[in-house]
Amino acid sequence: MSNLPHEPEFQQAYKELASTLENSSLFEKHPEYKKALKVAAVPERIINFRVVWEDDKGEVQVNRGFRVQYNSALGPYKGGLRFHPTVNLSILKFLGFEQIFKNALTGLSMGGGKGGADFDPKGKSDNEIRRFCVAFMRELNKHIGADTDVPAGDIGVGGREVGYMFGCYRAEKNKWEGVLTGKGGSWGGSLIRPEATGYGLVYYVQHMIQYASGGKESFAGKRVAISGSGNVAQYAALKVIELGGTVISLSDSKGAIVATGEKGFSPEHIDTIADLKLKRKSLTEISNTAELKSDFKYIDGARPWLHCGKVDVALPSATQNEVSQEEAEGLIKAGAKFIAEGSNMGCTQEAIDVFEAHRRENKGSAIWYAPGKAANAGGVAVSGLEMAQNSARLKWTSEEVDEKLKGIMKNCFENCLDTAKEYVVPAEGEFPSLVAGANIAGFSKVAAAM
Ligand code: GLU
Repeated sequence: MSNLPHEPEFQQAYKELASTLENSSLFEKHPEYKKALKVAAVPERIINFRVVWEDDKGEVQVNRGFRVQYNSALGPYKGGLRFHPTVNLSILKFLGFEQIFKNALTGLSMGGGKGGADFDPKGKSDNEIRRFCVAFMRELNKHIGADTDVPAGDIGVGGREVGYMFGCYRAEKNKWEGVLTGKGGSWGGSLIRPEATGYGLVYYVQHMIQYASGGKESFAGKRVAISGSGNVAQYAALKVIELGGTVISLSDSKGAIVATGEKGFSPEHIDTIADLKLKRKSLTEISNTAELKSDFKYIDGARPWLHCGKVDVALPSATQNEVSQEEAEGLIKAGAKFIAEGSNMGCTQEAIDVFEAHRRENKGSAIWYAPGKAANAGGVAVSGLEMAQNSARLKWTSEEVDEKLKGIMKNCFENCLDTAKEYVVPAEGEFPSLVAGANIAGFSKVAAAM
């Protein structure tokens, strides 16, 4: 009997990785990696702290802060900070564990970590957010550094929060160093970092579409269902539109906006939504405007997957476990051919099982699923490029960063594909499993380094 606390999200992420490794020939070829998996499952260090701050009424508030320094075999711990009321150790361990292998898949020198707090930014004033960020960094600064641990944003933490924390770090340490990524452009941030996760996701799916269609198809003319309306969803949507696709849904925790006909979101709609989200408001505020009313409907409390009509590509980009088994079956019925996670662990294990069974049974006409640790690696990849620019005291142009991002996503896709072919030989005509490919490629690199 284990005396460890129940950590459902972490156990889900661990089982997902371990089962694909066990169902491949990896451990036959490398028996020593079995032990490496056991070791890698335990974080090198967990920092757990109290964050005390003052709200606008002058009342004292307290939250729980965490940093999971999971694995430093490939480089300094690297991974975002999440501020959300659901944050606990199980969620941060799942995110940190995934981050180790995601970072390995970028090909850059980054270990894996994750952190955050159970602080809810919704409904807080800018001053309250600032006071919270400063209080959080007043403790975290003791444990991080440009060559030790480099946090960034995640849900609830964007450029503004990174700015408040970076200012506090400089003041506490009396030095400027690239200790956080996702910084503003004028103070060490990389161009294309805000766009990177969404753009990278679309670049990855472009390779899937090209491979599956023998180079004949692209995003042009495809109906793309996206969930979420934060940074990842916004830039994925803009890139899809640029490449000629139609974005037919977006959502937030309160509900979904879904296209009722052929017309999808325009770049102007996405700008309006970005403004709204910066003010920490929900989509309900614009769902009834003349702009959106004619071509879209708002569905209270729903996720988009079962409400979009025909779907070609689905990009879950909100949060973990946002596609259930029933929704996975619904997406297949709606005609979806590609599903790739902009969010971390966007699909439940049951949903992945549905997609993977369909892939095996339907050969070239199957749905093809890509896990977040490969498909959304573009964000942390450009964070790695931001670290490189900070260390070299250089700033690259957007074109340079975007080219590098495209190269990283291409290598990541090819690495997943080739690794899957090597370790889980697909049947004739079957798409290789990108879940197996991502897990085995990411894990092998870390295990070898360990
Ligand atoms: N939070 C992002 C992720 O899940 C980015 C992390 C980073 O840039 O360090 O990959």
